[in-house]
Amino acid sequence: VAIAVTRERREGETRCAVTPETVKKLIALGATVSVEAGTGLGSSIPDDDYAAAGATVRPDLATVLAGADVLLKVRGPTAAEISALKPGAVVAAMLDAYREKAGVEALKAAGATAFAMEFVPRITRAQVMDVLSSQANLAGYRAVIEAAYAYGKGFPMMMTAAGTVAPAKVFVMGVGVAGLQAIATARRLGAVVTATDVRPATKEQVESLGAKFLAVEDEEFRNAQTAGGYAKPMSAEYQAKQAVLTGEHIRKQDIVITTALIPGRAAPVLVSAEQAASMKPGSVIVDLAVEAGGNVEGSKANEVVTTAGGVQIVGWTNLPGRIAADASALYARNLVAFLGLMIKDGALAVDLDEEILKAAVVTHGGAVVHEGVKG
Ligand code: NAD
Repeated sequence: VAIAVTRERREGETRCAVTPETVKKLIALGATVSVEAGTGLGSSIPDDDYAAAGATVRPDLATVLAGADVLLKVRGPTAAEISALKPGAVVAAMLDAYREKAGVEALKAAGATAFAMEFVPRITRAQVMDVLSSQANLAGYRAVIEAAYAYGKGFPMMMTAAGTVAPAKVFVMGVGVAGLQAIATARRLGAVVTATDVRPATKEQVESLGAKFLAVEDEEFRNAQTAGGYAKPMSAEYQAKQAVLTGEHIRKQDIVITTALIPGRAAPVLVSAEQAASMKPGSVIVDLAVEAGGNVEGSKANEVVTTAGGVQIVGWTNLPGRIAADASALYARNLVAFLGLMIKDGALAVDLDEEILKAAVVTHGGAVVHEGVKG
């Protein structure tokens, strides 16, 4: 199996789909690996390290893709990459297939068997390939680091000869994978942490991390989790009650980190412009949901907005890309595990009836085969 990895060409994408460690693992699966020069630069991996691990480093995408059976990427391939693919080639990447319609069409037209890594189901067996979790965990960490960087005061309580520095008050809204890591990171930095979510199961998780849980715990809250473990969209009535409770709390916080998402829908607005304005000057809000429409009124993708009242709203879209070396390392391992499903005895054997592959495949044989993307 000839595996190709090209440089990420999308604006601001610092991650890469293969590391020297995973080159060795892919070779152990019976594959050959060719990597485009410069692939690892954003993750501090020099070309020589790929070569030392057994990959062939080639100068441009055409030479990397010539004859490749499999193309591995972080983001969906560009038109130039797709046109250089051989018919029937396998592609695995975070295609963002619901939004990137043109990319899906191009993969279909090229006859590629394209897998969207974001569609890998969240079943126990697939945890090792779960890119949403591996990247969200790092995003949650990095959100706290960004907040600490923007904040003009310290996070921990410090007792000094010149007096005491008070600990920062951090409020995490949405306690999925990213939110849990944000809580843990803020706690490690010494902040006083509170958190909210609409799924009752999160209460115990929040408390086990040493943070305090805050939510309207009514009948709707008790039923807010789907069988798949995700949040349901909440009623206008619940959201109004939630806003009253959190609004009073937000006013007293130094840092608010929002991570609330509902699969397939716009992110719920959890911090109104009025609530943001109620915070003290110098406070920081980080909106991890900014790409999905935002949890914070007034947040802007890839900008730090400073409100009239001196509150900074941070809207970086690619937080994992700001911790690229680790994000690449984990993503690349997710991909090796995924490829393990389709490389048998050193040969490519793609069984699209296999549960995980079936859930993740988007295009095959010149057609869009994913029900959700088709519809
Ligand atoms: P997500 O990114 O879809 O959403 C983040 C959080 O926002 C969720 O906890 C959600 O409940 C919350 N949220 C939604 N609306 C809200 C509102 N109005 N107010 C406050 N919070 C709101 O979530 P995720 O990180 O992908 O995790 C979702 C679930 O999947 C979790 O239970 C997680 O443990 C589970 N999970 C399971 C596996 C596995 O079994 N392999 C892997 C990863 C995650």
